[in-house]
Amino acid sequence: MMLIPCPHCGPRAHAEFTFDRPVEAITRPDDTADALVRNLFSRDNPRGHSRELWRHTYGCRAWIALTRDTATHAITDVQAWGAKA
Ligand SMILES: [Zn+2]
Repeated sequence: MMLIPCPHCGPRAHAEFTFDRPVEAITRPDDTADALVRNLFSRDNPRGHSRELWRHTYGCRAWIALTRDTATHAITDVQAWGAKA
């Protein structure tokens, strides 16, 4: 079982969280149509460190950004993301 250290609630089971997307796949208002399509449909699936956006859906409902090793699931950094829901 993977534990995710929520900055608001402390360590919780990953089942309480919902993965959203890698942080680099977040679209911005000034992205071109090609960039939007690339971010939505053709993301890389790298082995190693990945900066990701998750939500503590069954907890405080806050968005968090974490750095996770996609091979080992080791989490090396967690930060609150945006305003608390
Ligand atoms: Zn939380």
